[in-house]
Amino acid sequence: MNFNKLKFGQTIGIIGGGQLGKMMAQSAQKMGFRVVVLDPDPECPCQNVAHQFIEAAYDDMDALKELGTLSDVITYEFENIAAEQLKQLVDQYNVPQGYQAIQLLQDRLTEKQSLQKAGAHVVPFIQVTNEADLTQAADELGFPFMLKTRFGGYDGKGQILVQSSEQFDEAYQLISNQECVAEQFLDLKKEVSLTVTIGKDAQTIFFPLQENEHRDQILFKTIVPARSDKELEARQEVEKIAKAIHFVGTFTVEFFIDQSDHLYVNEIAPRPHNSGHYSIEACDYSQFDTHILAVTGQQLPNQIELLKPAVMMNLLGKDLDLLENEFYNHPEWHVHIYGKTERKPLRKMGHMTLLTNDVNQTEQRMLETFEGRDKE
Ligand code: ADP
Ligand code: MG
Repeated sequence: MNFNKLKFGQTIGIIGGGQLGKMMAQSAQKMGFRVVVLDPDPECPCQNVAHQFIEAAYDDMDALKELGTLSDVITYEFENIAAEQLKQLVDQYNVPQGYQAIQLLQDRLTEKQSLQKAGAHVVPFIQVTNEADLTQAADELGFPFMLKTRFGGYDGKGQILVQSSEQFDEAYQLISNQECVAEQFLDLKKEVSLTVTIGKDAQTIFFPLQENEHRDQILFKTIVPARSDKELEARQEVEKIAKAIHFVGTFTVEFFIDQSDHLYVNEIAPRPHNSGHYSIEACDYSQFDTHILAVTGQQLPNQIELLKPAVMMNLLGKDLDLLENEFYNHPEWHVHIYGKTERKPLRKMGHMTLLTNDVNQTEQRMLETFEGRDKE
């Protein structure tokens, strides 16, 4: 594989200019690399951070090649790039992440199949392409079950909870748009995630186990270290996956823990992840720092140190008024605002991280401050 070690002043090309691209770019610039970003939105968060910006669709092959020509290494900040196009880039340019992970993981079906093949513990699922499959899903998995589109879902988009056969009409609609995967619905005790970076020579380093709470299927907050004894088991699952899927850079595995205390791999994000944002302030290297070290072919640190426990909360459009009023009184809030121009109630506009010796108390205080805004 073409895997060059970059020198200061050389250029990293990032496909995607959202908040993940922005935080990647900031880590890269800190280390002395130039950054060129490709995104269709001229007002995306990366616009004012990149040294150079290519305004183009993610599937514009000419623009992707222009990015390749301008860059010494190419990376991406999201998984919905056409694997075929990424393969063309891999053949011509330096793309250490490769295209295989994207190819497997952007499709929920092949993702689950390859996880199963790797020996990871996944939630029981079946492929759903027609009406008969839906009835079979109900028979095999029982009600309720989750129906998720194979491609393009994020933050709960493209999925419904099917409670009974009365919802089959709604389910048919989802299937008529796209093939789906039905998945057993778990009574969750907890959700956790593990962020990992793989460097050259398959050197693997783990961030601490992260405890996540979702609301409206969007990540609401992350607490680190997770209040869970599943860290070792989660690492073992990740090791199985890392052996089976070629990858270089930072990725995150999301897990479910059910009421019987079983750990299941939910999904993998082949890129830095929202639940790893706390690492910017709370760890000695952030998930973006280690990603940049990996894709530029540098050695990774031997291990990641958690400098202080942390509570990270996402800031959605609906949170910003309150944030603006309260920020002044809370210098302990490490606030990150991504710079998106359009504010929508459930859009991720930023996040904040609080470092603390008492995560329970900090979590409680933060909830008291922010729950108020829904009552107004
Ligand atoms: P996305 O790609 O949108 O993140 P996920 O599959 O991770 O999709 O689902 C989003 C959230 O929905 C999960 O984090 C979890 O809170 C809930 N969820 C998804 N699948 C299940 C399931 N099988 N059982 C219980 N909750 C689920
Ligand atoms: Mg998810």
